[in-house]
Amino acid sequence: MNDAVSSYGRVGWSWRKSLRAGQRSAPLRSAGETFWVGLGGGGWQAFGMSMDNELQKHYALLLGIGSPWEVKTVELKLQEKKVEIELGWQWGSAAKCPECGCECSIHDSAPERTWRHLDTMQFTTLIRARTPRAECPEHGVRTMQVPWAVPQGRFTLLFERFAVEVLLACASVSQACELLGIGWDAAHEIMKRAVERGLERRQMDQLAHLGMDEKSFKRGHSYITLLTDLDQSRVLEVVEERTCEAADQLWATLTPEQKAAVEAVAVDMWEPFIQTIARQVPEADIVHDRFHVSKYLNESVDKVRRQEHKELLAEGDETLKGTRQLWLYNPQHFSQEQRDEFSGLKDQQLKVARAWAMKELFSKFWEYQEAGWARRFFKDWFGWVSRSQLKPMADVARLLKRHLENLLTYLRHHITNAVTEGLNSKIQSIKSAARGFRNFQNYRIRILFFCGKLNLYPL
Ligand SMILES: [Zn+2]
Repeated sequence: MNDAVSSYGRVGWSWRKSLRAGQRSAPLRSAGETFWVGLGGGGWQAFGMSMDNELQKHYALLLGIGSPWEVKTVELKLQEKKVEIELGWQWGSAAKCPECGCECSIHDSAPERTWRHLDTMQFTTLIRARTPRAECPEHGVRTMQVPWAVPQGRFTLLFERFAVEVLLACASVSQACELLGIGWDAAHEIMKRAVERGLERRQMDQLAHLGMDEKSFKRGHSYITLLTDLDQSRVLEVVEERTCEAADQLWATLTPEQKAAVEAVAVDMWEPFIQTIARQVPEADIVHDRFHVSKYLNESVDKVRRQEHKELLAEGDETLKGTRQLWLYNPQHFSQEQRDEFSGLKDQQLKVARAWAMKELFSKFWEYQEAGWARRFFKDWFGWVSRSQLKPMADVARLLKRHLENLLTYLRHHITNAVTEGLNSKIQSIKSAARGFRNFQNYRIRILFFCGKLNLYPL
């Protein structure tokens, strides 16, 4: 056996036969777990490879390709740790036009192509073949489609299936690339095809509760907008920008029937989104996201603290130094030490303590079951806050008042974009892992691949 290349002749039928026969006939597997292949010159020779169950299954799958395709040669390149399998088309078999499927004569063969297949043990396994070109009376000379790969694919379907699994399981795409021994572009190619497949197969009935949300992109210089299905926690589509036009593009991905079935949309108090929802799904309720609301309230509390801290420092008073987080955290999550420190602060006559109390009290709003009671509560809360002379708090109260009707809808639907919090952190990690995003389209593919809950597999 040549050390670098051990090449076997024409083994197509005999390989297949030996695998099948091997299960019945002792002589063909007489050397225990030795894999036998027929040599072109006749006779048999052991192929020096351990033939455990996995390998047997693996090759059985490969051979599932079936007639009129056959294995012509198997090359084992020991030093390169490579197995190359050459497939050939049986002479005399009719070709099929890829366009219309009609049987026609073979014109010639396309130049040889190579597909990466699942590794054989740790050996990179490649399939090589020259695909016949059919001569269709209607469509002319066309290269036939091979059953083991998609047109233009550089990998077999089995390899792609495995790659999708590895990509989904890995913490990062670069880790998956390393495990699979493929490059960044190849991984992208596989993901793109997987997403296209998934979108084609996706079921989109019962989209009752949707979310529309923006995310920053490219270090916060630009934005993307996502449409999510809140009931199934999946991203439906992603577009660039956060404008009316962007949101309209998202709506355009739904059919009129799908839009008519939407009951409510969770969204931030962002005017372009509000407008497009009112126009595109007029029957649906707009529900402002309560977590966005608490973000606004927190920001206002923080403004009050900063202002007051400045005033106190001017008099040499450091009471508020290092207290920022205390006013923003949920007190239920405080450590004992924080609790002690906070209760000391709360009892002093501080402006920020009043602002904090306003923020805390507002959380009661979400607990009402009746809109009437919530409305009454809001009126009282608004009166207190707007008389408080804490400008940042009065500002946010006015913002909430302006959007009150779409805050009250929460009591009916109980939806929020934070349901997709798991998605948000996934998207965040896609963004931070993806220093190399050359464009928005790549980003979109990643988001749909990891967050679209699509059926991504080729088989
Ligand atoms: Zn045709």
